[in-house]
Amino acid sequence: MQSQVEGIVIRTMPYGETNKIVTLFTKEAGKITCMARGAKKPASRLAAITQVFTHGTFSIYKGRGMGTLQAGDPLESLRHIREDIMSTAYASYVTELIDRLTEQDEPQPVIFDMLYQALHAIDEGYDPEAITLFVEWKMLQAAGLAPTLHQCANCGATEGEFAFSFQELGFLCHRCFHIDRYIIRLSPALVKLIRTFYFVPIERVGSLTLKKESKSLLKQIVRTIYEEKAGIRLKSRKFLEQLERTPEFLPKKEELPKDE
Ligand SMILES: [Zn+2]
Repeated sequence: MQSQVEGIVIRTMPYGETNKIVTLFTKEAGKITCMARGAKKPASRLAAITQVFTHGTFSIYKGRGMGTLQAGDPLESLRHIREDIMSTAYASYVTELIDRLTEQDEPQPVIFDMLYQALHAIDEGYDPEAITLFVEWKMLQAAGLAPTLHQCANCGATEGEFAFSFQELGFLCHRCFHIDRYIIRLSPALVKLIRTFYFVPIERVGSLTLKKESKSLLKQIVRTIYEEKAGIRLKSRKFLEQLERTPEFLPKKEELPKDE
């Protein structure tokens, strides 16, 4: 059976001398894996279309077992991602996270849209760290970790000061701070920011300028949730953290203190 899908290459693995196993995140069918015969040969017509982060239409033949990629047409190359090491590192982190949190052959159009928009935003030069944070907060739900962020996780209050509690997986209001010894106190601006990351569609990320410290704290919280509650620690995170500690790779742009 022949099918035509729109998708983004999220992972490739060499197979034998000349083949690649390609994982696509598709609009129609969710995550699918297929064999691209000969794609490792530079002259192959499948060589370019099977590069990671390529967005295109793919023609797949599916008999029994793994499908075979027969042809593909790029819709765009997203080449800026590959030209900049920081963008590559963040985009790899995003695709690995989505790969880890999704099952094969399960249509998930919302996640496809988010992946598409995240890679686009990184390609267009938006702050890749902020885009990555968006994806991390948004994907919590797909990981079965839905934090309580619209109200206090203990008493349901919506007014007051808030802190983040790993124990309660969500916000606690000041009246309930005592139930968890290890809360992280949050300024009203950070509470708002976390809600933005979790509830607001990713399209609106472009208008945000975030302080370095805010990003670090939000990153620590969300990555701790993944680690502690789901045991997820990504391979690409290590590379990203090394880059983040290496100042010459960092963008030279001035940070605009604006969000608080
Ligand atoms: Zn409360």
